[in-house]
Amino acid sequence: MFDELDLDDALVSACKELGYKKPTGIQQQVIPPAMDARDILASAPTGTGKTAAFLLPASQFLLDNPRRDPGACRVLVLTPTRELAIQVYEQAIALTRFTKLNCGVITGGINYGTDKDTLEQNLDILVATPGRLFEHIENESFDCREIEILILDEADRMLDMGFSSIVNQIAAEARWRKQTLLFSATLEGAGIARFARDILKDPVEVSA
Ligand code: AMP
Repeated sequence: MFDELDLDDALVSACKELGYKKPTGIQQQVIPPAMDARDILASAPTGTGKTAAFLLPASQFLLDNPRRDPGACRVLVLTPTRELAIQVYEQAIALTRFTKLNCGVITGGINYGTDKDTLEQNLDILVATPGRLFEHIENESFDCREIEILILDEADRMLDMGFSSIVNQIAAEARWRKQTLLFSATLEGAGIARFARDILKDPVEVSA
C-alpha cells in the first residue's frame, strides 16, 4: 500500500485519486532506496509504473527539504522525446496536485520564447528534452547548479537518439546534485553500462 512507503499524505491522496491501489513492483523496489538518497539503476519498460517510481520519491525529497527562498529548479527529469516529456509532466502535475510544488516542461518543437516564461516560474520539478535544455544552459537561461536530483528516463532511447554527449554535459553541469536515478527499458549493451557507470554513484540496481 502507498501509505506503507513513508510518503507524505498529499502524495498518497494523489495516488488514490489516480486510482493507484497499490505500488507496482518497480515502485516497491525503487521508492524505499530512492528515499534513502541512493542512486538507482532501473530496468523498467513503459507500462510498469516507472514514472511514479521516480516522481514520488523526488517529490517527497522536495517536501522534506522545503526551500526557504524561491530559486532555481531542484529536480530535473530528462526524457528522449517531446511526447514523453509531456506525459511525465502531466503525471508530475497529477501526483503533486495536493502540494505546493511547481512543475514545468520545456521541449524542442515548442516556441523557444515560451520556455523563458516557464523557467521564470520558480519551478521545483522541470521535465525537459536534452537538446532544448542544453540550449538554455548555453544561453544562461537555465542554471543547473541547484539541481539536487537528476532523473534520466528511457536512457537507452536517449543514447539511441545520439544524446549521450549532451546528457553527459548536463550531468556535469548538475555536479552538485545529491542523487541520480536512471531508468531504461533495458540495461543490455555496453553503451548503457558505460553511460550508467559515468553518471551513477554506487547505484541500487532494480528490475521491473
Ligand atoms: P508508466 O510505466 O509510468 O508509463 O505507467 C503506466 C501507467 O500505469 C500510467 O497510466 C500510470 O498512471 C499507471 N500507474 C502508475 N502507477 C500505478 C499504480 N501503482 N497502480 C495503477 N496504475 C499505475
